[in-house]
Amino acid sequence: MKKLSVVGIGPGRYEGMTLQAIKTIEAADVIVGYTVYCDLLKPHFPDKEFFSTPMMQEVERCRLALEKAAEGKTIAMVCSGDAGIYGMASPIIELAGEYGVEIEVVPGVTAAVSGSAVLGSPLTCDFAVISLSDLLTPMEVIEQRLEGASSGDLCIVLYNPSSKKRADYLSHTCDMVLKHRSPDTVCGIVKNIGREGEEMKLMTLAELKDYSADMFTTVFIGNSKTKIVDGKMVTPRGYVYEK
Ligand code: SAH
Repeated sequence: MKKLSVVGIGPGRYEGMTLQAIKTIEAADVIVGYTVYCDLLKPHFPDKEFFSTPMMQEVERCRLALEKAAEGKTIAMVCSGDAGIYGMASPIIELAGEYGVEIEVVPGVTAAVSGSAVLGSPLTCDFAVISLSDLLTPMEVIEQRLEGASSGDLCIVLYNPSSKKRADYLSHTCDMVLKHRSPDTVCGIVKNIGREGEEMKLMTLAELKDYSADMFTTVFIGNSKTKIVDGKMVTPRGYVYEK
């Protein structure tokens, strides 16, 4: 059976990849992916054939990878973070039947997890991951999910917090959360996780409302218990510490 692996490569640096992802890429004939991710991988897999697709639409890129797999080449299609989280795993699985290709999904460390580690331990208890991109999900649905997560006092991780066209979405999101949570709620942002220029910043929910995030930023909104301990964002597990 012809095979295509959809591989999550983690946040960016080689050390952030799983051993399974490294072995899958090593075993592949061709690596297909967005130019930025191929460029991150090239120095570590110098003998591999890379097929990078800069401007191509997502579905086109999936079809191209499936066509190459159908020709008999073993393909690793790479995505940042985890391929099943706002990634290419689902369209690949949905389209694979047309090409008679077997699909394997190789997990990767998603930005919520790698960014959480940079901040400390903000996601200790229940949390929700919500993307603010309304390219494929209507804004009303995103708002409904934000409302549920806010009223349920879940820590919230925001992916795709902003872009040129959506400059005010983060501020609007904060207004929604502020209906249920104090303006002093501890929040954090992490930019370029595991890449050059990695940067973290802690702030209040009121300050986050005016923060201008870019598309390489992941945003963390704490729950009512989240606090700052020694410069780190921490949502307590609930243990009582006796001396
Ligand atoms: N599949 C990816 C998510 C893709 S959606 C994953 O599992 O991580 C793209 C969004 O993810 C970005 O807008 C940003 O919010 C977040 N993101 C992905 N990689 C990141 C990184 N290295 N640093 C900061 N944020 C990142």
